Amino acid sequence: MKPEIKELTGVGENQILAGYTTFKIGGVADWFYQVKNETDLIKAISFCRKQKIPFFILGGGSNLLVSDKGFRGMVIKMENEMIKVDNEKIIVESGSSLARLIKIAMENSLSGLEFLAGIPGTVGGSIVGNAGAWQENFSDKIKRVKILDGKDQVKWFNQEDCQFSYRQSRFKKSKEIILAVEIELKKAKQKDISQKISDNLKKRKNQPQEPSAGSIFINPKPNSASDLIENCGLKGVKRGGAEISDKHANFIVNRDGAKAKDVLELISLAKQQVKEKFGIDLKTEIFFLGGSK
Ligand SMILES: Cc1cc2nc3c(=O)[nH]c(=O)nc-3n(C[C@H](O)[C@H](O)[C@H](O)COP(=O)(O)OP(=O)(O)OC[C@H]3O[C@@H](n4cnc5c(N)ncnc54)[C@H](O)[C@@H]3O)c2cc1C
Repeated sequence: MKPEIKELTGVGENQILAGYTTFKIGGVADWFYQVKNETDLIKAISFCRKQKIPFFILGGGSNLLVSDKGFRGMVIKMENEMIKVDNEKIIVESGSSLARLIKIAMENSLSGLEFLAGIPGTVGGSIVGNAGAWQENFSDKIKRVKILDGKDQVKWFNQEDCQFSYRQSRFKKSKEIILAVEIELKKAKQKDISQKISDNLKKRKNQPQEPSAGSIFINPKPNSASDLIENCGLKGVKRGGAEISDKHANFIVNRDGAKAKDVLELISLAKQQVKEKFGIDLKTEIFFLGGSK
């Protein structure tokens, strides 16, 4: 029997998660709570901890594969999105989309985030995975990160304490919850910022346009995961409704009602063949909710 949740107002039950992911895949969460501010978030987390209810923090769901069986617990969807601009500094809450952050930076003639244009996540998710593109990483612009730790304490970490590297941060392991981020940018002409954003968006037109979670595997540098998978002849290979994209072999796309199971089969096929042919272990960049088996 599921306990009733009366302490938190607005908690939904039996929410299908597929629509909250860019893959458009995933089963039902027992509870679903959309938090609009820090106070509600802290209340929800401390409630779950006290009641021993498993919880999962969801950003834009753009780097995530949710199991077909869903999640037995509470999914907390981050919709805290306040942004404050102070000269060349921006403080942004973690539930803001990158797109909104980039737009506000541009409106304030602040340059430095244009490389993130077209990445469909939130600020929080992009800190966890240190999102990046075109040889730039989100971490390069970060001054401090505000978090909630495992004992419900709020803390600020300086950039150096976040252990950022290529698609990595301390938050992948620590499970601390990101509340807000302080970013430092440089003044520039709005026209130039806007031009860089459209150039970057144009480059993304070549990426697969079907529902996906972006790149599935971290590039095992100096190799590219996409080249390795393509060289195994796997482009266009399908399982159920999922396909290793024929445009970009490091993307798995949901062509037609794909299940998580279909995507997982393709992930293990790519891993196995790349290991056999090149002796390289591919590591997934995406996160899993409800299991990766
Ligand atoms: C078409 C497409 C293109 C993409 N291109 C790129 C790219 O060029 N570069 C790149 O780096 N990525 C890319 N991605 C992947 C993805 O958009 C990014 O990784 C993005 O930063 C994920 O953010 P999110 O909010 O969607 O995270 P989610 O998928 O919601 O979550 C990812 C992980 O972060 C955790 N999390 C989320 N918010 C918080 C928080 N506030 N506190 C603690 N943990 C949190 C979640 O629990 C989960 O473990 C792409 C994806 C798509 C679909």
